[in-house]
Amino acid sequence: MTAHTPAPASSGATPAHPAPAPAWLARHEHFLLDLDGTLIRENEPMEGAADLLHRLDGRYVVVSNNSTDTAQGLSRRLARLGLRISPDKLVLAGQLTIDFLASSRPRARLQLLGSIALRRYARRQGCVLVEQSPDLVVLALDKRFTYAKLSAAANAVAGGAELVATNGDLHHPAPGDARVPETGTLLHAVAACAGIAPTLVVGKPENMLFAEGLRRLGARPEDTLVIGDNPATDAQGAARLGMRYLLLGRGPEADSISPAALLALDHAGHVQAPAQAAANLNIA
Ligand SMILES: [Mg+2]
Repeated sequence: MTAHTPAPASSGATPAHPAPAPAWLARHEHFLLDLDGTLIRENEPMEGAADLLHRLDGRYVVVSNNSTDTAQGLSRRLARLGLRISPDKLVLAGQLTIDFLASSRPRARLQLLGSIALRRYARRQGCVLVEQSPDLVVLALDKRFTYAKLSAAANAVAGGAELVATNGDLHHPAPGDARVPETGTLLHAVAACAGIAPTLVVGKPENMLFAEGLRRLGARPEDTLVIGDNPATDAQGAARLGMRYLLLGRGPEADSISPAALLALDHAGHVQAPAQAAANLNIA
């Protein structure tokens, strides 16, 4: 770093002198950042998140398995938490799933289990949303998921509809050690009842989100570091594409507990994914 710009007031204490760049920051040109458990825990920013974004300004894209928000809505929500991230820097699994289906399956009838915001976005993209006889059952994080929805989705899949999921995460972190049940948990229920595995899971560790993030940055994998908190999605997905990674959190594979601690970590990033990282992704 050749120049230092003071951190924004919302980020807390401003250092009197710029800290030297840690090894991971000096080694990479671009960064793909996870959101939940990396920058926020539900509705709380993690310690040092704003400082990290400030330090990486212009060199990062957020790549998240979030399937409830649109980029516009999420950008506004993050701003209220003191994190200013423009919508073009937010690559989200729910929105990317809809974009993919709108272009690849434009006339398909979709039974979309998801948030009001995602359903509205799908309609705006021209998707045909139905409640019966779908061609595809599309599963996102639906916080109004019910037994009736489970029954309808599982019977549609058992009857021949394709099962598509925005992501396979079982949960994401809330403040403290609480868990927010995620799309993958709902996916297990539908797949178990139907007796059929999904034909497509869009989110990390699959390539689509990372590839879109690299495209927006104009970046090559070898120049890009992934910063996340989930060994099974962030580390596994990064390693598959030849990107180094670092993990936050309290788990045994974590490198730092928070973005603040990461800024002091002198580590170039891992190349190999943890051996047991894929264990919680097996469906069916
Ligand atoms: Mg995460």
